[in-house]
Formats: sequence, structure tokens, C-alpha cells
Amino acid sequence: MDYDVILIGGGPVGMMLAGELALAGVHVCILERLKSTTPFSRALTVHPRTLEIMDMRGLKSKLLDRGRRLPRGHFASLDTPLDFSVLDSSSNYTLFLPQSETEEVLEQWALDLGVEIRRETEAISVHQDEEGVAVRMSGPQGEGTLRSAYVVGTDGAKSLVRKQAGIPFEGHDATFMAILADAALPGLPPMSVVSRMGEKGIVSILPIDSTTYRILILDPERSFVSKHEPVTMEELRSSLIRTAGSDFGLAEAKWMSRFGNATRQASRYRENRLFLAGDAAHIHFPAGGQGMNIGLQEAVNLGWKLAGAVKGWAPEWLLDSYHAERFPWSTAMLGNTEAQFTLIDTSPGVMELRSIMSKLLLHPEVNHQMAEQISALNVHYTSDDRAPYHVLNGKRSAELILRLKNGDLASSYQLLRSGKFLLLHLSSDAKNSGEWNRYGHLQVIEASLAAKAAHWDDVHTALIRPDGHIAWAVPVSDPDPASTIRDGVVRWAGELRSLTGDSGEQKPGVK
Ligand SMILES: Cc1cc2nc3c(=O)[nH]c(=O)nc-3n(C[C@H](O)[C@H](O)[C@H](O)COP(=O)(O)OP(=O)(O)OC[C@H]3O[C@@H](n4cnc5c(N)ncnc54)[C@H](O)[C@@H]3O)c2cc1C
Repeated sequence: MDYDVILIGGGPVGMMLAGELALAGVHVCILERLKSTTPFSRALTVHPRTLEIMDMRGLKSKLLDRGRRLPRGHFASLDTPLDFSVLDSSSNYTLFLPQSETEEVLEQWALDLGVEIRRETEAISVHQDEEGVAVRMSGPQGEGTLRSAYVVGTDGAKSLVRKQAGIPFEGHDATFMAILADAALPGLPPMSVVSRMGEKGIVSILPIDSTTYRILILDPERSFVSKHEPVTMEELRSSLIRTAGSDFGLAEAKWMSRFGNATRQASRYRENRLFLAGDAAHIHFPAGGQGMNIGLQEAVNLGWKLAGAVKGWAPEWLLDSYHAERFPWSTAMLGNTEAQFTLIDTSPGVMELRSIMSKLLLHPEVNHQMAEQISALNVHYTSDDRAPYHVLNGKRSAELILRLKNGDLASSYQLLRSGKFLLLHLSSDAKNSGEWNRYGHLQVIEASLAAKAAHWDDVHTALIRPDGHIAWAVPVSDPDPASTIRDGVVRWAGELRSLTGDSGEQKPGVK
């Protein structure tokens, strides 16, 4: 094998996944067609759950240094914004940051961790057999073949990996094309925001920095133009005048493009040794700024599981849990972007519906629920049905402030920076027996809660997964916590032959 894992596609999702794998000691390589990160940023938002994940890898502060914090999100650009400031998160805001900047931070992280990035290299075929995967590629040195145990298609909407794996991409093509431009608008005061909805179309203008604006236009007169037809300055100017009543002195455009409401999802995220993540697995109308965020969250769900398979500790069910856990959340995102696209319309009935929904969003509980959805803080997974019930099982862990045995304060997110499982003993009778010392992928921490955290009061011990979700939490009322913990760790982090002296057979997994 040349590598343990080859990632095809070095966009944000590929870079994140490569870093996750390298952090776990996996020999990984990215094949990327482009010479360098594209300066043209589709995404402009990093949402709360993604920021939490970045915090768990020590990357959040690097992103914060480059972006602007906004205490809100939106649903279909309704008049009432989604209030992120009330969310139960240490990252309760949107970070406004061009995708190219996010990619730069992730690429540097991956490189620092030793990831090999082969740029100007295009994968041209992928073939898997019993032992591994052969990737045919064409790069600066000509054509060649690389082999790895696994391949992940992080290769975007037109994914070669998805096609070669024969995975259907179910959904529909675009019915409407919109115009995007990043341009100077000297007729607007610096950092202005413009949002207009009228019979002639919809326009939204946001400042990227003091000189450049992101212009988004849904112009019915230009909605049937092919995605591949370049946008011209004349078209941009006339669409701006039609929808906003002015071209705002439109001067220089750095980038002009089209995007639509095509909505599709791969029917499976795994085909034996091949996996899909990010846009390779789903495409949708980019409303609410969710696609890259969800892709990054997928990368962090898959990374430690794939590392477990490479390193040999992963129970059999763990790799399949990637599809089981992530597929429903992408389906939900596709649903909400379809709903948002329906609401971004100026027909009288829809305008009335927008007004009703805006009023509903004034109710804090409604606003909160929608904010949790768009921020992805609502994401939770099926709880481990072999663990004792606890409300935290399967949920994401908000950041915990812990008092360690030596009296120091520590954040659970900081402890997760190693990319390892966190076995957190919180009860005074829960001791680190040293039993798990041979698990290189697990760290044991004895601590107490230094700040109140919802639902953690009765927790004796919890196993927090490397992606920050709670595998299980054992309540203090458990009659035999030591054996419940032992069974739970083995179920998730694998059984080490050398520990038990048995055949090393894995226990049947959770569903
Ligand atoms: C107008 C617009 C606005 C958006 N705004 C937001 C937003 O605010 N927030 C948000 O979260 N998301 C947003 N998105 C979505 C976001 O841009 C994508 O979800 C994100 O880029 C997906 O990342 P990815 O790594 O999966 O794929 P990509 O970014 O598409 O990267 C795939 C990479 O694979 C490479 N590649 C492809 N095929 C091969 C091959 N055969 N060999 C080698 N390399 C290959 C490509 O060169 C590319 O670099 C927006 C999208 C659009 C269109």
C-alpha cells in the first residue's frame, strides 16, 4: 500500500478529514486537481457547531482572527433573524469568513500534521478489490497508480468516486439559476447591507470587506440561463438595476458565477472501501450557509472511525455508523434548503407566508428551534442501546469546564485536541484504574465540573467520542459502574487482545 487512506479532493472537507486522519497517526494523502486553493469563496459562514469542532482541534482562534462574528443566522432571509446568542454553546455566533480563508487554515493544519498533498493531480479512476483500492491519477509526473486501504471522495458535486462506486445521486436538477458576484460597489457607503424583494426579482448585497461586496441575485429574466454560461458585467449591471433599482456604481468584479437549486443526495455514503463526504454526498440550494459546515462535520464524524479501522481497533459496526449517523442530518438539511428556496419568492401567497413565518420567529421557542437547526447544534445520534439510559447518550457535548485532580481548570474541548476518546470520571468513587493505559486512542481524565452544565449533575463517568459526541454517560445510580464502564469502552474503543488475553473477537456493536 502507498497510503492507508487516499482522499480525492482537497477542498475544505478533504483538508479537514486529512487532518483528522493524520492526527490519529494514519498515513494519508490528498489528490487535488488545483494548483492552489481557489481564491473564489462560495461559503462565507462558519456556524456554531463547526466552530465547536474547530475549538476541539485548536483551530477556532485561527479562524476568529480572520473573520467577523455575527450573533445571528437566518432562515430564507426572513425579516426576523435567528438569534444564535442564546444558544447553549461557547460558540454562539456565526463567523463571517470567506471559504478560501477557512481552507487555508485547514490546509496548513493538515500540512503541519504531515499530510501529503499532491496538487495538480487528478484522479481518473478508482477501483476497489478485497485488499484495497487502486487510484489511477494524472499529475505533473504523468500518469500512475496509487494504492490504499480506503479512499474517500471529498471531490465535490461531480464526484468521480461516487460515480465509480455506482452510488446513485438521487434528487432533482436546478429549476432556477441565480447570479453571484464579488464586486466593488463604490456607490454604496462602506459595509452597507442591501436586501430587496420585488416583482422583478430578489437581491441581497453583503460586505465581504471594506471594498468588496457579495452580490446574490434571483432574477426571473435570467433564471433559465445555463450554469456554464459565464456571467458578463453587462448582465450583472442590468440584473442589479432591474432587481435593486441601481447598479450602485458597479466597478470591478473579482468573480462572477451562477448557482442553482439542484438538490441531490448520495443514497449511500459507503461502498465497502469507498466513502463520500461533503458535496460529493449532497448538493442543495445554498440557503442558510450550511453545505460546507455539514461537510466539515461529516469529516469529523468519519475521521476517527476510519482511523480505527486502519489501526485495527474499530469494532465492525463503527464504519457503517458513518452513513447511519450522518445521512439523516443531510436529508434534513436538503429538506430545509428546499423549504427556504420555496420561501424565497415574491408571489403574493409566498410573501404572506413569509410574513407569517417572520412573526412566528418572534416567539423565542420557535426561533430557538430554528437556530439550533441552522447552527447544527441540534445534531444528535442514535443512543447506544446497550448502555444504561441517560439523556446525554448520543448528544453533542457542549464545552465543559472541569476542575482536574491537581486543581487546574481545563476545558473538555481542549482535552479533545488530541483527537482521542475522552473517558471522563466525574464521581469521587470513579478512579483511573490504569486499565485503559494501553489504549493509545483514549485518554482518562478524573475531574469534577467547575461550572454547571445541563444534564451532567448525575453523571458518574462519560465516554466522549473524538468528534465531541457522548457515546454514553453512566449515571451515579448505576449498580455496578465499573463493569458498565468496561463494557462501554470495549464496545466503542475496541477490545485489545493484549489487555484481555482472549481471542480478540469484537463484541457485537450497538445498532
Ligand atoms: C453561492 C454559494 C454559497 C455558499 N455559501 C455557503 C456558506 O455560506 N456556508 C456553507 O457552509 N456552505 C456554503 N456553500 C457550500 C460550500 O461552498 C460547499 O458545500 C463546499 O465547498 C463543499 O466542500 P467540499 O470540500 O465537499 O467540495 P469542494 O469545495 O467542491 O472541493 C472539492 C475539491 O475536489 C477537487 N476535485 C474534484 N474532482 C477531482 C479529481 N477527480 N481529482 C482531484 N481533485 C478533484 C476540486 O478541485 C475541489 O478542490 C455555498 C455554495 C454556493 C454555490
